[in-house]
Amino acid sequence: MTPTYDPDNIFAKILRGEIPAHKVYEDAHTLAFMDVMPQGEGHTLVIPKAPSRGLLDAEPATLAALIASVQWVGRAVRKAFEADGLTVFQFNEPAGGQTVFHLHFHVIPRREGVPLKR
Ligand code: C5P
Repeated sequence: MTPTYDPDNIFAKILRGEIPAHKVYEDAHTLAFMDVMPQGEGHTLVIPKAPSRGLLDAEPATLAALIASVQWVGRAVRKAFEADGLTVFQFNEPAGGQTVFHLHFHVIPRREGVPLKR
């Protein structure tokens, strides 16, 4: 069984303004900020404001708003970093690689021949 949402996770604290983040985009339903340990130049995280732990418990409306912001941020970072492509990924639960338990998409502009770090 999937554990419930913890309102004290670090992204919830960013949403409440309790800890800082380098914000790059915000609308009524989503927020995007730079990853503190980037796997590539321009590595950005896009999160919903709704309290979703991961992909599997998120409401359809939350996912619709989130993927629209992922596209908007993806276009923006691709242009800003003059990238050749874009990598988007998302993890669920520790076994799936998730370490922060508030739904988020990683958005990373990519250059030909430049591998991701880690
Ligand atoms: O593995 P997961 O997709 O849960 O990764 C969480 C991401 O959140 C990591 O890339 C980490 O660098 C990032 N992070 C962040 N700011 C924090 C804490 C974590 O950008 N304050």
